[in-house]
Amino acid sequence: MTTTRLEMRPSPGLTTPTKRGLLTTSVGSFPKPEYLQKARNDYTAGRIDKAELDRLVRQATKEVIDLQEELGLDILVHGEMERGDMVAYFAEEFPSMHIGGLVRSYGNRYYHKPVIDGELRWDEPVTVDMWRYAQSLTAKPVKAMLTGPYTMVEWSFDEHYPDRRAAVLAMADVVRQEAEALDKAGARYIQVDEPAVSTRFEDIALANEAMGVVTKNLKAKTITHICYGDFAPAYDDLVKMPVDQFDLEMANSDYDLIEVMKRKGFNAEIGLGVLDVHTHQVETVEEVVNGIKMALEVLPPERIYVDPDCGLKTRTRDEAAAKLKVMIEAVRRVKAELGIE
Ligand SMILES: [Zn+2]
Repeated sequence: MTTTRLEMRPSPGLTTPTKRGLLTTSVGSFPKPEYLQKARNDYTAGRIDKAELDRLVRQATKEVIDLQEELGLDILVHGEMERGDMVAYFAEEFPSMHIGGLVRSYGNRYYHKPVIDGELRWDEPVTVDMWRYAQSLTAKPVKAMLTGPYTMVEWSFDEHYPDRRAAVLAMADVVRQEAEALDKAGARYIQVDEPAVSTRFEDIALANEAMGVVTKNLKAKTITHICYGDFAPAYDDLVKMPVDQFDLEMANSDYDLIEVMKRKGFNAEIGLGVLDVHTHQVETVEEVVNGIKMALEVLPPERIYVDPDCGLKTRTRDEAAAKLKVMIEAVRRVKAELGIE
């Protein structure tokens, strides 16, 4: 779907014919219930089989969908109950990738880094079944979630391709086929997460080229989520990424990117992160209202989607629900002020 290139700025006296916008959503992951963490350990230890694990994953997914329905979100996510690490999950499923030995990340944290050890190819859908299941539970649209080609390669060891560019473009073709399978299954929103982009902005042209491969044939609205970056210096290149919507963390950086958008212009839609997912503290409704209003100085409401900064998996279920409740109340207030249905 092509982005509507509208240079619209809301002005106080202006009444738009269709009062729509400020749809609420979330980034992707939800906190996993304890029984699921236990089930995963039991599965690894051989105490339960795959069918039992899958049953519990689906139960947890249903709970995430029900919670979002109850809270009143507009665009739902399936919560990623079947996923652990966002790269390892796909590395386990894609041919020519496997999970390698332990490597150190930061401090004293170790993790199993995925390895690309052959020609990358796509044989069958990885995410479609779970997306379809989640979508079957609700009349609201459920976003489909993929990890982007740049992040897949950047957070893996490449033992096959001559250089990073070759690996990223080969991965882009694999992710493209997965995205097209979701598109064909009926996903109206496909999100391609590229958090690694913010750790290496010198590669942004390559990341953009790879994203172009993924999104070029899709009917769905395309979104990229990129987090924890100092986007300002890379802004001009970042906004060239070929997606309909940029989902960015704003609350954690005091909305400083809004100023850059105001100065330089912004032609896409924004997924406006209004909840800091790194703190236990629940935002106030006023804080979130202020954040949304800052964005409204730059974009019309129909191009603003309101969501948390990042996935909610680091919070407890109660914290996640409390934060989302505040977000929804803030959106309700702004909508009432603007006369949006
Ligand atoms: Zn994030």
